[in-house]
Amino acid sequence: MKRTIVLLGPPGSGKGTQGEKLSQELGFVRLSTGDMLREAARNGTPLGIKAKGYMDSGALVPNELIINLMKEKVASLGEGVGVIFDGFPRTVEQADALGEQIKVDLALNLDVDDDELINRLTKRRSCPKCNSVFHLEYNPPAKPGICDKCGAELYHRDDDKEETVANRLKVYRKNTMPLIEYYEKRGILQTIKGEGSIDEIFANVKKTVL
Ligand code: AMP
Repeated sequence: MKRTIVLLGPPGSGKGTQGEKLSQELGFVRLSTGDMLREAARNGTPLGIKAKGYMDSGALVPNELIINLMKEKVASLGEGVGVIFDGFPRTVEQADALGEQIKVDLALNLDVDDDELINRLTKRRSCPKCNSVFHLEYNPPAKPGICDKCGAELYHRDDDKEETVANRLKVYRKNTMPLIEYYEKRGILQTIKGEGSIDEIFANVKKTVL
């Protein structure tokens, strides 16, 4: 089984949803830089204050901030723990830094068409407390506006609004897409179609990991 997994794919491709399911099923730790940064911003920490402007506009947070954050997280993982990286690395520099610290076994790339990404992001609703995500049509919460898991009030992330989504996709193409080739060259890339039901996609995700 692959124990160190990087999830690649554009915003809205399902990295959070699939990564969470995988971590539940295998007992792996999921490290999401987006969740960490949003929490830091909510708590008004120095990192959160620095990151917020970049996030709200759909830009990437500077490499040095993210790399330091992840170095600490990776260093604190227990021996032999399985780990899923969601939203990291997003640049070649970040991938180099990660590769210096830990051996990546699998880069799993979720491939989704642009129209579908825009639909998913603009209709996505997120939980500020436990980070669960829902979709108004495909995966609605049982009670409208309320998180099924923890009961908190769901919100529409500022950067999931239509104006910002286009910029995030542009940033993805320029900075993050080169990682597909990066991991392909290292012989650990697997691409799967990230469209269909959550469970169908998850069945394919599991096949690549087990
Ligand atoms: P996500 O929740 O993964 O979509 O991330 C939300 C936002 O957090 C991104 O649009 C970036 O502004 C920032 N962010 C998350 N991960 C990274 C990263 N690895 N490098 C730079 N910025 C990041």
